[in-house]
Amino acid sequence: MAKQRIYMDWNATAPLLGEARAAMLDALAEPGNPSSVHAEGRAARAMVEKARRQVAALVGAEPSHVTFTSCATEAANHALTPEFRMGRAPLVASMLYVSAIEHPALREGGRFAADRVREIPVTVSGVIDLGALEMVLAARPKEEGLPLVAVMLVNNETGVIQPVADVARVVHAHGGLLVVDAVQAAGRITIDMGVLGADFLILSSHKIGGPKGAGALVSRGETLMPVPLLKGGGQEKGHRAGTENVAALVGFGAAAQWMSEDLAERNAAIGALRNRLEEGMRTAASDVVIHGAGAARVANTCFFTLPGLKAETGQIAFDIEGLALSAGAACSSGKVGQSHVLTAMGHDAKTGGLRISLGPSTTADEVERAIEIFSRVASRRKMAGEAA
Ligand code: PLP
Repeated sequence: MAKQRIYMDWNATAPLLGEARAAMLDALAEPGNPSSVHAEGRAARAMVEKARRQVAALVGAEPSHVTFTSCATEAANHALTPEFRMGRAPLVASMLYVSAIEHPALREGGRFAADRVREIPVTVSGVIDLGALEMVLAARPKEEGLPLVAVMLVNNETGVIQPVADVARVVHAHGGLLVVDAVQAAGRITIDMGVLGADFLILSSHKIGGPKGAGALVSRGETLMPVPLLKGGGQEKGHRAGTENVAALVGFGAAAQWMSEDLAERNAAIGALRNRLEEGMRTAASDVVIHGAGAARVANTCFFTLPGLKAETGQIAFDIEGLALSAGAACSSGKVGQSHVLTAMGHDAKTGGLRISLGPSTTADEVERAIEIFSRVASRRKMAGEAA
């Protein structure tokens, strides 16, 4: 009998949770438009508002501060804009500062012109360099106006947790605004908008077991908001026009609720599996380099380099063996390039990195089989090297 495949690419996307699927099927049976005033419309509205409460609870925010979007990328393009409104008054952000390890959804700079975007470096462990951020913000010409800073809470490749509360203190001391990409942090660490000090938070449904194609921009309040990206029918209080994807939002909400529960137990179990995996990998190949291992990481991620094995080739080798993992980030339509994260961490990134990411349904048996596969791929790489 053919061996079951092993899915260890949860940072690319998480399998749809049963709870999300069930809630979505109910929502799909609902015919109304949430903006309609009749009973069918009100029923759809109630579903969207429940989802809003569930998503808000996951990040310690007020439901009224959640603006639903079609994905995190849209939320990023919404938030990364020079144009804000404080009530009715316009507020201009003159320059965008993004960390060098941001996901392309933010690194591309949203609605800022390319010459208005600056990068903040990271340390060799892949942690945002707070000193550099402080220096860059202090050195900028004050007449330039308000700086907008965008950083991630957890890096999608290394899993390294970023010191966002400290970043917030620096940014606010310089009169700036802070956008936090919490896509890979949600459901993996406790998030509290207030404690983080973020002005805006970005979330994605499909990374937490909800469906693909739903996201959110969570704001600190309701007075300061970015100028809308999508204008039209006034949905989402005018912040994001377009009829809501009710079923997707309902699935997002159900996943957020599921992820809000038992976080510590889930993390302990996933962390033990990840540690066993890394121990097995180190035994099988003593030259394996695990990136970010010296820094605080989320429990599920292992980003590694095997000297002599190109990430692109490695990804295929693991796939043929039945193990789904990623060569760096998987968002560029299957394209495997240099990891900008490894480059930013100062690693010689020629071979690139491979990422294994686990989830709540990963089993100990899968981890043991993954270690065996890793062993085979690593030894084949050595044999090829010796023959060359
Ligand atoms: N930010 C991070 C850290 C991500 O990992 C991703 C997806 O890979 C995104 C943003 C974009 O999310 P979405 O697919 O919802 O646009």
